[in-house]
Amino acid sequence: MDQLKTGKFISEKRKEQNLTQAQLAEKLGITDRAVSKWECGRSLPDASIMLELCDILKITVNDLLCGEAISMNNYNEKLENNLLDMVKQKEEADKRLLTMEIVIGLTSSLFFFAMIAVGIIFMKLEKPLWAFFLPVGLGLIQFIVCMAFALRIEQVAGYYVCGKCGHKYVPTYRSVNLAMHMGRTRYMKCPECGKRSWQKKVLNKD
Ligand SMILES: [Zn+2]
Repeated sequence: MDQLKTGKFISEKRKEQNLTQAQLAEKLGITDRAVSKWECGRSLPDASIMLELCDILKITVNDLLCGEAISMNNYNEKLENNLLDMVKQKEEADKRLLTMEIVIGLTSSLFFFAMIAVGIIFMKLEKPLWAFFLPVGLGLIQFIVCMAFALRIEQVAGYYVCGKCGHKYVPTYRSVNLAMHMGRTRYMKCPECGKRSWQKKVLNKD
């Protein structure tokens, strides 16, 4: 046990609780000299007031003796919070991706139609045939590329939920690509129960 480390830790936690040495001493019914001695590492708190001290400093006796917050509970809680944050962040990112998918879909459709219009205008102007096919071809190629990209977003953002067993999963690109769909709801085979059903897109997994 490291008395100096424990002393520093007590000082740190006391300041976190916005207490002066005198205020802490008063709460414990001891002299502020005693508190000062702990913090300098010259003595340890009496066992008789250790629990009360830890209560005030919002630490465990284990933490106090180790001179740092090491409790497993804390650790798990922290880990959980971090995981929750990560899940939330993924949800936000997925939401943005799905919005982007709509934007990509709309702009690439518009561009495709615009290119068809350009082709028709060229044809009306009695330009050679390639003047029709060039813009329409370009429009078609960008449309296919954008749709492939949008489909990729739809595959990876969020999850599909099985209509039969409720299993949530990320399907393969191939199964998303080949599936019949109405909006984002797709008719696919569930990898969990193996049944085919209409599967909705959801953002969270629980
Ligand atoms: Zn299923």
